[in-house]
Amino acid sequence: MHKGTLITALIISAIGLAGFAAAAAGQTNSRQADLQKWAIHDEKRPLPPVVDPGPAGAPVPAPSDAVVLFDGQNLSQWANLKGEAAPWKLENGFMEVTKGTGDIQTKQGFGDCQLHVEWASPSVVAGESQGRGNSGVFLMSTYEVQVLDCYNNITYADGSTASIYGQYPPLVNVCRQPGEWQTYDIVFHAPRFDKDGTLLHPARLTVFHNGVLVQDNEELTGPTGHHVRPPYKAHADKLPLKLQDHGTPVHYRNIWIREL
Ligand code: MG
Repeated sequence: MHKGTLITALIISAIGLAGFAAAAAGQTNSRQADLQKWAIHDEKRPLPPVVDPGPAGAPVPAPSDAVVLFDGQNLSQWANLKGEAAPWKLENGFMEVTKGTGDIQTKQGFGDCQLHVEWASPSVVAGESQGRGNSGVFLMSTYEVQVLDCYNNITYADGSTASIYGQYPPLVNVCRQPGEWQTYDIVFHAPRFDKDGTLLHPARLTVFHNGVLVQDNEELTGPTGHHVRPPYKAHADKLPLKLQDHGTPVHYRNIWIREL
């Protein structure tokens, strides 16, 4: 064998072995590698590129097999965390987070699901970073897809709009201007635990923000935390969907869900 050919063959073999070793050690995709590279809420973590989603549209009609959780008429499907009537303000066709009244959650529990949520940041811009239009959609009351006004508002990447809070920044920033209606279409697979409470499969989340893919079947590290990434803790197969009161008057309308 020609010396050059031999060296090339050795290099190719080495690359092949390295690839095999990486695969055998466990499949870490680039997003998971990125997650491990940055501390939680690291302000140096690169921000997602900005993408213009185009103008807001009319509410997206619920398909016939969906459970309508909010159609703008009443809050009958919702309660506060004590199980009392949901105290948020009901306006003409939407609800408004009422500061200090606490989170609200659905009376019904859900596990694996497809979820559609429409929301709007306050049209009067106030505060900055996490203080501007903060709310959140908590799957199973536990796993947060962040709601925030990131239109010309800098915050840490893993707390951006449509981040899986504290874990994965969105792939891109597709925010509309404050006051404009925005959509989340979420596919959620609940984590699975065995009867001893050991984690069998982590939760997975896919999110489209204003129709654009921003979370691509990401594996969650565990429940949402602030400055912590807590480990999984076994829970029921179905738990309520929760919306967060973070002290800013975010609007919600047209929320529907399909169980998978
Ligand atoms: Mg939040």
